[in-house]
Amino acid sequence: MQDGDWMKLKVDLHVHTKYSHDGFMEVSDVICGAKEAGLDCVAVTDHDTCEAVSDAVRVGKKAGMLVVPGIEVKSRHGDILGLGITDVVRRKMSAKDTVSKIHELGGVAVAAHPYSLVFHPTGVRGEVKSAGFDAIEVFNSRTYFSNGLAFRAAKNRGIPMVASSDAHLVGEIGNSYSVVDCKRDVSSILDEVRAGRTEVVCGLTGLGSIMSWYLQRLRRLVNPTK
Ligand SMILES: [Zn+2]
Repeated sequence: MQDGDWMKLKVDLHVHTKYSHDGFMEVSDVICGAKEAGLDCVAVTDHDTCEAVSDAVRVGKKAGMLVVPGIEVKSRHGDILGLGITDVVRRKMSAKDTVSKIHELGGVAVAAHPYSLVFHPTGVRGEVKSAGFDAIEVFNSRTYFSNGLAFRAAKNRGIPMVASSDAHLVGEIGNSYSVVDCKRDVSSILDEVRAGRTEVVCGLTGLGSIMSWYLQRLRRLVNPTK
């Protein structure tokens, strides 16, 4: 198989490293975890920082794992993934302005868990329809009750769909992912996402993992050096 050939790749487009305020994974954990999960590609999308990206691309290259550089931006209306960019996008802009800025940087803007209420009460909700998103995360593994709303919003408006894990711990990587028929490179993956030629594979992250994540966050709060 040559890199220029078209093939079906399994891609998880929403994963956090320790550079996220609520993340714990080393870059190497993300790459190993993605390999163990049988993925071909993983996007590193830390909250409001691209600090892990260059390291992740380098470590991924050595391990044969494609890495999409990215970020999860906290807009005024909710969380937005910027895929294929290495620059930080300012927080607290409107969803529409955040999407425009991501486009200006050449990236793909995805509404992350748009209707979530419980673990991520930070979706863009109604803005999903009007902010000019390239794709909607119709299934987020940490969103228990509202993925159906995201799916309907995408389907009704013909907006491309992705599914992703939003992993914050190693065992969560690849719990959901998208299958993309493309060449084995980042720009081909992003082109196909923009065109909506994706299949989504959906699975929830277990409550045990979420509870363990909360405990680790609590421990960090009590002892910030850990
Ligand atoms: Zn996230």
